[in-house]
Amino acid sequence: MDAATKPVPDLHDHRVSANHLDAVRVGKVKFSVEKFAWFFGMATCASIGGALNASLDAIGLFIVSTAIALLLGHSLGSHRKLIHASFQCPKWLEYMLVYCGVQVGLAGPIGLLRQHDLRDFAQRLPHCHDYLRHGQSFWRDAWWQLSCELQLTNPPKIRIEPRIAQDRFYIALEKTWMLQHALIAGAFFAWGGWAYVFWGVCARVTACVFGHWLIGYFAHNHGAMSYHINGAAVQGHNIRMTSLLTMGECWHNNHHAYPGSARLGLQSGEWDPGWWTLCLLRKFGLVWDIVLPEDLPQRTELEELAQPDSRCSICSLLLPTYYGQR
Ligand SMILES: [Zn+2]
Ligand SMILES: [Zn+2]
Repeated sequence: MDAATKPVPDLHDHRVSANHLDAVRVGKVKFSVEKFAWFFGMATCASIGGALNASLDAIGLFIVSTAIALLLGHSLGSHRKLIHASFQCPKWLEYMLVYCGVQVGLAGPIGLLRQHDLRDFAQRLPHCHDYLRHGQSFWRDAWWQLSCELQLTNPPKIRIEPRIAQDRFYIALEKTWMLQHALIAGAFFAWGGWAYVFWGVCARVTACVFGHWLIGYFAHNHGAMSYHINGAAVQGHNIRMTSLLTMGECWHNNHHAYPGSARLGLQSGEWDPGWWTLCLLRKFGLVWDIVLPEDLPQRTELEELAQPDSRCSICSLLLPTYYGQR
């Protein structure tokens, strides 16, 4: 039976559905002028403008705004709340978190959800396009993810629930997500001039978009594993040394095992700033109904490894012969 006629395994209540496996396998990677101009434009402004206008307070703004965008925005707002609904919170807080998530500069909230769910769906199937699984070499994957888009021949259907798809705030944010960066840039310019724009917007977006790709590449190719998903096109890996930088998103092997869990660092010593923040917000009554691995339905394809593979992601990349090439 070829891939086109193989039935697609039942993925429970996934937003994505397809009748055949080729839906996530057959397609072309096409250069995207918009994506290229956005990322490389930001990177150019950050390196030239940032270097010529460097100051301690501008660099401080870069660090603080990047941390807010990654922790409150990307990890809590976009990923753990909007995409996975792994905790409940007041609507005003959800909007605030997702707005911060847009400041990462990857896409609008609905576009990001579609990208995430397509990848999540494709990676759980036995085969998927290399673009969706970071399956090509480091440099080719960098070029693909930072400046190209995948055009699938017969893409699967993505059904987004009305809670998100019909929400006026999210629809508006989706249409204007690039403009939102311009608004913040205007506010930073009024506050501290061009140095604040180059560091607080251009350098932040460059670091977030580049970092998101880099972690995505490693998290699907190198690093420790506590779980194995049988029959999946690709496994997730944990990248321990980036736990603080990624706000806990680096525990991607755990995330592949328990996608709906609000907690990503599951073992002791797996630092998860996103989880710590949720615990703090829960203390103030701002977060409730937190979903943990034990609350999720059992998955027959999930296997807990008796001997977790704890090889370091960077070491296995730099010393492939010592660690055994994978
Ligand atoms: Zn993944
Ligand atoms: Zn996810």
